[in-house]
Amino acid sequence: MDPIHLSDDLRLLQRQVRRFVDDVVLPNGAAWETAGMIPRDVLRQMGALGFLGIRCPEAYGGSGMNALASVAFAEELARCTFGGVTMTALVHTDMATPHIVRAGSDDQKRRYLPPIVKGETITAIVVTEPDAGSDVQGLRTAARREGNGWILNGTKRFITNGVYGDLYVVAARTDTSVKPSRGMSMFLVERRTPGVKVVKKLEKMGWLCSDTAEIVFEDVRLPADALLGEEGKGFYAVMDNFQNERLVAAALYAGEADKAIEIALDYVMTRKAFGGTLWDKQVIRQRLAALAAQVEAGRQLVYHAAWLDAQGRDAVREVSMVKAFCGELVNRVMYDCQQFHGGLGYMHEAAIERMARDARVQSIGGGATEVMLEEVARRLDPERL
Ligand SMILES: Cc1cc2nc3c(=O)[nH]c(=O)nc-3n(C[C@H](O)[C@H](O)[C@H](O)COP(=O)(O)OP(=O)(O)OC[C@H]3O[C@@H](n4cnc5c(N)ncnc54)[C@H](O)[C@@H]3O)c2cc1C
Repeated sequence: MDPIHLSDDLRLLQRQVRRFVDDVVLPNGAAWETAGMIPRDVLRQMGALGFLGIRCPEAYGGSGMNALASVAFAEELARCTFGGVTMTALVHTDMATPHIVRAGSDDQKRRYLPPIVKGETITAIVVTEPDAGSDVQGLRTAARREGNGWILNGTKRFITNGVYGDLYVVAARTDTSVKPSRGMSMFLVERRTPGVKVVKKLEKMGWLCSDTAEIVFEDVRLPADALLGEEGKGFYAVMDNFQNERLVAAALYAGEADKAIEIALDYVMTRKAFGGTLWDKQVIRQRLAALAAQVEAGRQLVYHAAWLDAQGRDAVREVSMVKAFCGELVNRVMYDCQQFHGGLGYMHEAAIERMARDARVQSIGGGATEVMLEEVARRLDPERL
């Protein structure tokens, strides 16, 4: 059942994404997984199709749509079964670039947004550090003023698009004399700036075609206009954008989970055992039905939260709920769907094997389940808590 907020325009967008997945992703995804990257031409192709500018204003070549478009895009792309493809695109469209859309100066927008929309410049959001993950206030990367600009030093890790991307949106301390929440700022840092060192391309369990970097900033000289938004407001910028990140992440999880059920259904309908198909076993039918009900519930909450966001209403409670709910659910769905595939589900040739590996990080990254549930708990009854 399609959510009521999925308009005809968004269905059209999803059909375009589906065609791109069929024509480009499915024939090539396995090769990209082996290569550990997605060719830039493919990202340019996504740009030409208008997928990378959904949240960018029309003045810069985008289509200026809202969170509903982001979740429709994320959900459909996630059905491609290659989590690394989905993540590469969504970090660019919904996790890094919105910082520029929201806080960029006219000059920064004019310079960066058109190539971002075309897929010529790929962005990364650079927040996590060895000693600061869930707790963003722990970060140590610092930028100090020097002359007319800044000098940036620090180490970042687990950065998606950090190896092959071009433009980093970096969170750094700019005032260590105040609380981290007041002394943090955002910067635009081009990867090719002297002193920016991608020290490691990290090897992962899943999302193999998505590149993940450990980055060191060593006396990186930045011009004054590398500052993105107001000095000292970086922590709030990260927290604000977390809402969009978590919402599209939940949409991604719902899309992957729904696709996994579809794949498992195809399999159990034909796989024979004990005198019938696996579908003939009530326990399998009912487990799939129960999972489908939960995925549908998650999906509806994704669209509801996106609608709240599009109305300009506070959706922190709903976004936190749905990130936690779908992040756990997608893992349960993958576990069961892999189980129903028997030994085949353990083989690289089966999409479900990759999908199960890809799903594991989804209750961890971008706000671990426990952190999301704390956000929900705080909002259960603000009077009493
Ligand atoms: C593949 C991948 C890609 C990523 N991409 C990016 C990126 O592009 N940019 C970026 O900045 N970061 C990125 N990250 C980082 C990601 O967002 C962090 O890993 C995540 O926020 C968790 O931080 P951490 O790993 O430091 O775990 P920690 O913060 O050390 O937490 C470890 C565990 O402790 C538990 N926990 C944490 N806090 C609480 C609490 N308050 N209550 C109870 N339990 C708690 C949770 O179970 C959590 O999983 C990526 C990570 C991965 C794995």
